Amino acid sequence: MFFTKNKERKTEGLKRYLTLKRQVADSIITYAKSCHPNEGILILQGKAKKDNILVDGLVVPPFASHGPYYSGFPTYDLPFDLSYIGTAHSHPGGTNRPSLEDLNNFYGFISVIISYPYSDADIGAFDRNGNKVRVEIV
Ligand SMILES: [Zn+2]
Repeated sequence: MFFTKNKERKTEGLKRYLTLKRQVADSIITYAKSCHPNEGILILQGKAKKDNILVDGLVVPPFASHGPYYSGFPTYDLPFDLSYIGTAHSHPGGTNRPSLEDLNNFYGFISVIISYPYSDADIGAFDRNGNKVRVEIV
């Protein structure tokens, strides 16, 4: 009986998906292109529900650092804001899979990664365990 319960919970987790507003997806693409060949990083604003994460805004993090293999920002400088639900960053030379550092520096509920050449199809999303999350652009 417990086994069945656990199994159900697991399936629930896998059903989680990310909704990006068209405008947000376009802004991530534009930002990634403008940072290229360096990485760019943005904060995602929106709402995280049990099975859906909605992103409807972006914030350029203060004091962000950019490099060809690294982008980040000091989270202690961020204002406490419940609408900050994750980050989006670019991978100028790689895949949109999260790196080990990405998983170690996970912020919020969701990590969006966009890889070169930065089109809709290059957008990937992951939870804090590195599991792929389905992306929907509306
Ligand atoms: Zn990364």
